[in-house]
Amino acid sequence: MPQYDYDLFVIGGGSGGVRASRVAAAHGATVAIAEEYRVGGTCVIRGCVPKKLLVYGAHFAEDLHDARRFGWNVPDCDFDWSVLRDNVLGEVDRLNKAYTETLESHDVEVILERATIAGPHEVTLASGRTVTAKFILIATGATPHVPSCPGHEHGITSNEAFHLDAIPKRILIAGAGYIANEFAGIFNEFGAKVTLINRSDVILRGYDHSIRDRLLQISTMKGIEFRFNADFRGITKNEDGSLTVEMTGHDPITVDCVMFATGRVPNTGDLGLENAGVEWDAKGAIVVDDDSRSTCPSIYAVGDVTNRMQLTPVAIREGQAFADTVFGNKPTRVDYENVPSAVFSHPPMAGVGMTESRARETIGSIAVYTSDFRAMKNVLAGRNERALYKMICDAETGRVVGLHMIGPDAPEILQAAAVAVKAGLTKDAFDQTVALHPSMAEELVLMK
Ligand code: NDP
Repeated sequence: MPQYDYDLFVIGGGSGGVRASRVAAAHGATVAIAEEYRVGGTCVIRGCVPKKLLVYGAHFAEDLHDARRFGWNVPDCDFDWSVLRDNVLGEVDRLNKAYTETLESHDVEVILERATIAGPHEVTLASGRTVTAKFILIATGATPHVPSCPGHEHGITSNEAFHLDAIPKRILIAGAGYIANEFAGIFNEFGAKVTLINRSDVILRGYDHSIRDRLLQISTMKGIEFRFNADFRGITKNEDGSLTVEMTGHDPITVDCVMFATGRVPNTGDLGLENAGVEWDAKGAIVVDDDSRSTCPSIYAVGDVTNRMQLTPVAIREGQAFADTVFGNKPTRVDYENVPSAVFSHPPMAGVGMTESRARETIGSIAVYTSDFRAMKNVLAGRNERALYKMICDAETGRVVGLHMIGPDAPEILQAAAVAVKAGLTKDAFDQTVALHPSMAEELVLMK
């Protein structure tokens, strides 16, 4: 008789958990996965995927406008939020089903219940059933952080943004990171008056300063208002349903909706970690080693719950590496160097490697090349919006250590260029490549 009910019990059916379950099962393990909400997790259900679809939807506002300059007789168009919302939610349903089917076709048992840790090899399900497993993987992700100011319950987070009954006329977004800037662009294109407030005086801390300054400039030009050094004091609900927000350093503002985009916190509350000696850090993230193993030898954790890099493709790699190492006899570790990332703002930005300031701190002697240009399409459209590409090189070796860009299709272009950066290529290698003309990407090999 086997000693445990399963070889692997996974808690959390998001990107990391699904990949780990599927691969472990393919390596021959008996696997069950518990999910308390919907299989697919943040990325598929209420993150990257529906957000990107909203970004596409929002872009039509500019495309329809610009089309007239390209000779199209475009009548005045209306936007019906409920059509886009329902179509996006329909796509989410389709993906949720596809993810569940993939798990089942790999003989992974899907248990739609909340699960908590009862011991090093024991999990308790919400129904009261206790199951045992040789290994447990925690992949419970993260959840939006909401500041604890008076009236915070009147605000929403990105979770609710996908289900709104209507696009608010005026929205205040708190935070100036990924989610805030992406949704600022989306709501602005849909016609809302957007005000973004942040506790500090920067947007997108961690991105290259020239690129984020350009986003700030273009966003302001598009009508998004920014207020910095503004800490939440409180939200009051008025009789007409509007919300008045008080903040430090600025006048109060009355809006129809407040959205918090002030970071995400690991989902470790009431998970029973203490029952197995699994330690967590000050932010609530599970402490793991390079193999994603927690302080309990039979329990591992991957993805946002470990707060290493809150990115879907990273969680997927962590899940894959865990399954290959523990069940596939193929020890694998995730390489966190030169991970590309993007912000799907309007226009989008993307980057890989070190920012200019980070490179100056770590390397010292660097060479910086830029290309500051107006995309051909924007010129004909009369859109005064400049793209900016920036390449940072080690001055001694010429090796490209960072590449950052903002402009149309920046994420699509950067993904390909990231291969070159990851491969350790030099500025010379870029320069030796003949430009593909006319394209925006050709600026990559023409930087001065
Ligand atoms: P970010 O970490 O990007 O930004 C958080 C913002 O909220 C910052 O502006 C920060 O201010 C502010 N903030 C943080 N804590 C508080 C607080 N206690 N009170 C008030 N303001 C606060 O978080 P997001 O919520 O935008 O996104 C979470 C994560 O999800 C991202 O880090 C990213 O990894 C991932 N994500 C990735 C996407 C992508 O790949 N395109 C898209 C969306 C999310 P300050 O400037 O002072 O730091």
